[in-house]
Amino acid sequence: MTWVDVPEGSPFGVRNLPYGVVSVDAGPPRPAVRVGDQVLPLAGLTDEPLFAGPTLNPFLAAGPDVWAAVRERVTSLLTDESDRARVEPLLIPIERCAPQLPMRIGDYVDFYSSEHHATNVGRIFRPNGDPLLPNWKHLPVGYHGRAGTVVVSGTDIVRPSGQLRAGEFGPSRRLDIEAEVGFVVGVPSEQGSPVPVGDFASHVFGAVLVNDWSARDIQSWEYVPLGPFLGKSFATSVSPWIVPLAALEAARVPGPPQDPEVLPYLRESDPWGLDLALEVRWNSQLVSSPPFAGMYWSPAQQLAHLTVNGASIRTGDLYASGTVSGPDKRQRGSFLELTWGGAEPVRVGDGQRTFLEDGDEVAISATAPGEGGSRIGFGEVTGRVVPAKA
Ligand code: MN
Repeated sequence: MTWVDVPEGSPFGVRNLPYGVVSVDAGPPRPAVRVGDQVLPLAGLTDEPLFAGPTLNPFLAAGPDVWAAVRERVTSLLTDESDRARVEPLLIPIERCAPQLPMRIGDYVDFYSSEHHATNVGRIFRPNGDPLLPNWKHLPVGYHGRAGTVVVSGTDIVRPSGQLRAGEFGPSRRLDIEAEVGFVVGVPSEQGSPVPVGDFASHVFGAVLVNDWSARDIQSWEYVPLGPFLGKSFATSVSPWIVPLAALEAARVPGPPQDPEVLPYLRESDPWGLDLALEVRWNSQLVSSPPFAGMYWSPAQQLAHLTVNGASIRTGDLYASGTVSGPDKRQRGSFLELTWGGAEPVRVGDGQRTFLEDGDEVAISATAPGEGGSRIGFGEVTGRVVPAKA
């Protein structure tokens, strides 16, 4: 039972309790937990100074024992009738809260771990070759992105300009999205020491939604031989609420079969994925429902791979899954795939769309099964495209 008011069907019940940072009535950033349509600021609720600053970084760095203790404490405060008189006056309606970036971002890595996405992109870009390159099933392909341009949901996205092909410069005409799930690192590792695949839960705190905005014309001209650069680095949006792994226990599903067998450092004793149901809305219209459960590479394998050379991770690091696409057309997590390279426009409202136009807004949301038959919500990551700067 719980005393706190949670609207019927809300995916932000007491089994979820995601963490974020909000500015209340335009005040300074404050770490908080979301419950229903309210937030509970965390500073002062515990004796520890973990929540005194403007980000969640001190809490993220504190590690699994502290994460579990704080979660238990907050759950008890919101459910135990004896705490109601003290805690209820502290709750703030979500309307008064402007979401901020929940953590000071460390490094940002983006993977490419959906077999359906990689296959679709391979077919579009290399119609005469094998859609998957030879390395794809041996390692989780990824690249280092630009941490400094990760922005919180709701931030406008300025259309990027760049080289679109040989001798041509201008605003991108093929601006796209990538619907992804991002993992937030809490506990750092030591440079020179890989993080074993089984140590995922000792380092990673939780998950957010990510929109990896992508300028396909800039990307396709620049990406050979060193990979994504200016076609990606102008902006990456994240949802404001970090859903703790502890809230996703009921969402764990077996991982997909991996053939060929992976190398020992990528081998999990109990391969797993997460049953997250994503939805992509283009100007409020549902255009795609990508399933995260079928991702080929798991978040634990991604972490093991990105540290296997001794690269260290830091508190606040973000690594994203890569575009989430399923086998069906309406499960594609990018407009490049949804419109098959722009050849098959989709109807959005009264018009046809291939890529994003100025003024378009995209919202990516997700839910997952929670404990006791509940639903766990991620909220959404939104962004509106504004015209290129002259
Ligand atoms: Mn991506």
